[in-house]
Amino acid sequence: MTQTDLLIIGAGPAGCSAAVYAARSGVKTVIAGGAMPGGQLLQTNDIENYAGFINPVPGYELMDNMHKQCKRLGVEITSDEIIKLEGDKPPFTLTAAGGKQYQALAVIIAAGAGARWLGVKGEENLKGHGVSACATCDGFFFKGKEVMVVGGGNTAFEDALFLSQICPKVTLVHRREGFRADAVTVEKVKNTPNISMMLNCVVEEVLGEQTVTGAVLRNVVSQETAQVPCAGIFVAVGAVPQTAWLQGSGVELDPSGLVKVDAHQRTNIDGIFAAGDCTESEFRQAVVAAGSGAKAGICAASFVNLHR
Ligand code: NAP
Repeated sequence: MTQTDLLIIGAGPAGCSAAVYAARSGVKTVIAGGAMPGGQLLQTNDIENYAGFINPVPGYELMDNMHKQCKRLGVEITSDEIIKLEGDKPPFTLTAAGGKQYQALAVIIAAGAGARWLGVKGEENLKGHGVSACATCDGFFFKGKEVMVVGGGNTAFEDALFLSQICPKVTLVHRREGFRADAVTVEKVKNTPNISMMLNCVVEEVLGEQTVTGAVLRNVVSQETAQVPCAGIFVAVGAVPQTAWLQGSGVELDPSGLVKVDAHQRTNIDGIFAAGDCTESEFRQAVVAAGSGAKAGICAASFVNLHR
C-alpha cells in the first residue's frame, strides 16, 4: 500500500494544475495518469486559445511541459489506472488495474472525458479499421485517401482542417446547418478547397467488411439516403465523462455521468474533490480544466493540512 497525502486521478490540464498548487503547498502528491498520461490534449493538434502562448502550441508539447513542471515540483506521475475508490472519510483507498493500492488523505478526480461514438451499424466492428475518434493519432494512415469527419463542434472542424493537409478530399458531415465550432475555425474550413460539407445529414451505417469503404448518410430534411465512399470515418460528436469506474464509490454523479461538485470543487464526500472535463458540461476547454484543477488543488491542500 503506497501512502500519500493527495492522489490525483488524471494527468491532463486539470490534474497537473491541481498537482502544481498542492505540491507548492507542501502536500505529497501522486498523479495516477493511466497508460497514456495527458488526456485529450495529446490528441489535439495546434492549440491557439490557451492563454500565454503567442503562437499555436501542439497539444503534446503543452502536456509535456505540464508534466515536466509537476515533476520539477516533486510530483510523482505514475501510469496506474485507478479502477476503484473506497472510503467515506480519510484515508481513502484507491486500487489500480493490476492490484496496486494507494492510501490518500485527499483525492482529486480529474479523469477527463473520452470519445462519444455514433452507435450505428458497422461502427463497432470497424473501429481501428477505418473508424477512429482521433484524427491526430490515426490521420496519417489515411494519407492520400478520401475521409469523412462527423460532427459540428470544434473537434470536428479542427480534425477536418488537419486531415485536409494529408487527404485529397475531406467530407464534413453534420446533422444540422448551425455549428458549435468557433466562427474563426468554421471560416477556415469554408476556405479550404478540399473540404466539402454535407449538412442536415446523419450517418446511418458504416460500410465495409475488413476496412471502411464508405457510409450510408440520411438527409434529415428530405429523408433521402445515399452511399458516400470513403476510406476513413473520424467521429467527433462530443465527449462522455470517464467516470463509469466511480459507480458504487459513493461519489455523486449527475445523470450524464459528470461528477457533481460545488464552487470549491468538493464532491459530496469530504476530502474527495473533482475538476476538469469529468465535471464540466459546457466549457470543455483546456484552460477551464486547468482553472478548476487549480481550485481543486488549493482546496485539497487545505484539507490535507487540516487532517494530518
Ligand atoms: P461538441 O462541441 O459537444 O460538439 C459535438 C458535435 O457533435 C455537435 O455539433 C453535435 O451536434 C454533434 N453530435 C452529437 N451527437 C451526435 C450524434 N449522435 N450524431 C451526429 N452528430 C452528433 O464536442 P467537441 O467538438 O468534441 O468539443 C467538446 C468541447 O471541447 C467543446 O467545448 C469545444 O469547444 C472544446 N474544444 C475546443 C477546442 C479548441 O478550442 N481549440 C478544440 C476541440 C474541442 P449538435 O450541434 O447538433 O448538437
